[in-house]
Amino acid sequence: MSPVELCEIRGGVVSYVFQEPGASLNPVLRVGAQIKESLKLHKPDKATDAEVIRLLKTVGISAPESRIKDYPFQMSGGMQQRVMIAMALASEPKLLVADEPTTALDVTIQAQILELLRDLKQRLGMAILLITHNLGIVDDMADRVAVMYAGQIVELAPTRELLRRPLHPYTKALMASVPKLSGGAARLTAIPGNVPRIGDFPPGCRFAPRCPIAKEECSENIPELLEVESGRWVRCPFWR
Ligand code: SF4
Repeated sequence: MSPVELCEIRGGVVSYVFQEPGASLNPVLRVGAQIKESLKLHKPDKATDAEVIRLLKTVGISAPESRIKDYPFQMSGGMQQRVMIAMALASEPKLLVADEPTTALDVTIQAQILELLRDLKQRLGMAILLITHNLGIVDDMADRVAVMYAGQIVELAPTRELLRRPLHPYTKALMASVPKLSGGAARLTAIPGNVPRIGDFPPGCRFAPRCPIAKEECSENIPELLEVESGRWVRCPFWR
């Protein structure tokens, strides 16, 4: 794909909400100007203050007529994240990628941002790809979930089924490491070893050095992601 074609997809079809809005927003530009930049690039006919105000209203910012002139530091973390979402919505994307959108926000604001995303999905009819480490958020928000390890999808399934019956050894280990309110274990269960560094992946299955059921051939053959049941995909020939 040419850079021009890619540029049409980025923002035009797919928009991205980065984590840490405080670090993603330009600290020396008013938030209204930052949203307008996105409009100028993707919807130049709509690059007006009125449209910026409408977008701020859409993401639930009160008194947007005055907030448009704020700098990012004059807003709370939750409001900054709403501005990031407004910027992403400016291009009317079909897919919104939200990368850990609630990182660094307190629990109440986290819930508000997630509710906003859920509401926008319904109202605007767009798909959301949510990147998160939080299984509670997965349970709450996702219809389908792709579990990734060392840059590869190792399991793909409808959320409820995956959480009820994980199939890949990594997904199982991940679920076992979630602390439980009842239980009383002295130490949390952890997955031994470390995630390999990018460019330094082990041969064969990337999870092999940490997998409790690894076999010799696991380090020789690269497992494929295969559909093992209707709608359920697993990258492990020994998933049973
Ligand atoms: S392929 Fe082998 S090492 Fe990889 S997850 Fe399956 S059993 Fe474990």
